[in-house]
Amino acid sequence: MTAAISAKRARGDAQVTLLEAQPRLGKKLLATGNGRCNLINRATSPESYHSGGAFASYALNAFDSARFFEELGIQTVFDGEGRGYPAAFQASGVLDALRLALSENGVNVVCDCPVTGISLRKNGYAAFVPSGEYLARKLILASGGLAGRGLGENASFRLPETLGHHVNEPMPGLTHLVCDKKQVAGLKGIRLKGTFTLLSNGAPVKSEEGEALFRDDGVGGIAVMQLSLGAKKRLLGGEKLVLRLCPGGDMSLDALRQRLARFPARTLGDVFTGQLNRFIARNAINRAGLRPETRAESLTGAETARLFSALHVWDIPVSGTGGFADAQVMEGGLVTDEFEPETLESRLNKGFYACGEALDVAGYCGGNNLAWAWASGILAGTEAAKSL
Ligand SMILES: Cc1cc2nc3c(=O)[nH]c(=O)nc-3n(C[C@H](O)[C@H](O)[C@H](O)COP(=O)(O)OP(=O)(O)OC[C@H]3O[C@@H](n4cnc5c(N)ncnc54)[C@H](O)[C@@H]3O)c2cc1C
Repeated sequence: MTAAISAKRARGDAQVTLLEAQPRLGKKLLATGNGRCNLINRATSPESYHSGGAFASYALNAFDSARFFEELGIQTVFDGEGRGYPAAFQASGVLDALRLALSENGVNVVCDCPVTGISLRKNGYAAFVPSGEYLARKLILASGGLAGRGLGENASFRLPETLGHHVNEPMPGLTHLVCDKKQVAGLKGIRLKGTFTLLSNGAPVKSEEGEALFRDDGVGGIAVMQLSLGAKKRLLGGEKLVLRLCPGGDMSLDALRQRLARFPARTLGDVFTGQLNRFIARNAINRAGLRPETRAESLTGAETARLFSALHVWDIPVSGTGGFADAQVMEGGLVTDEFEPETLESRLNKGFYACGEALDVAGYCGGNNLAWAWASGILAGTEAAKSL
């Protein structure tokens, strides 16, 4: 959508057609940010991306997406962590503004029109659709990727393989980490705040502060989703992954001793009441090899030390990640080296462009993926029209 609007803005006399497979545009957009659409991030930088950050930086710096949306009538407001949302906190408003701009700029939008193939023609490209083909001097692929459930996810990023382009193997990103169900039994739905670390073969890969959410098959929540980027690839490469949690937060051994001494007659199951989630505390008590019925006053020094360790470090072996249906972004996609970062034109086929998630650019949570989608669309659309 941003590519089509920008192409018309760059060359008002150009005929721009947007082919959409779904009955309506922007289905995935409506689901973003839990319906509120976290559309940009004030601090987006190459480090905000697990892959493709350096490639994406030209587009991200070249365009101010907040200004683009301001021109469309959408004001962006930022939260304390730099995440930008439409002032009305409605993804549907963002989509409506884009749809209005498409119509106001004279873009020909054709829905229910899946492109099934593309090929090079004498003066441009053909896009094959069920009713025939569209011919165009310039072709921009903005197909997104495989992430999401019933939101228009698709494998059309593979279409340019017929033009000689290559694809890095797609993997689900920004999803939960899967573990043995016994590890998290009874914790489904519980949220835990703190610092979370992913270790590979014993060495830390990345730490993230924030919130985790227990599921029956593992751990999700934004902090863990951030750690999931790259996890699938590591597991397939044979690395042993562990998710390290600190369920007791910053409780020191001394603080634990004081807590036990303060409530000597309480059982271990009750002694953390008001301090830790009851089920998280019980899980730590079990891992320490203790019983929730044991009274606090009867704990030996060695048992207290074991309880402290269980509260301080909880290592959960990771056996997998969520699938594409639970993922918010696709890792992998079109190899970025085959495109010019300053124009997003193919290095293999003049007049062919790609933007958004179809390219191998995958960002961390916080608005970085939409930021890339908008900016790369604006860049590809502008450049394609300019060189008509
Ligand atoms: C649940 C969920 C929540 C998310 N929340 C956020 C968030 O708050 N902030 C953020 O930054 N990112 C978020 N993301 C990620 C973000 O939505 C995507 O990165 C972004 O939408 C990618 O934009 P895109 O234009 O490249 O692809 P898409 O948004 O997927 O759009 C591609 C369009 O192309 C169409 N299409 C595909 N193939 C064809 C074909 N062959 N012919 C015709 N049409 C075709 C599709 O139907 C679709 O409409 C979220 C993702 C999910 C799944």
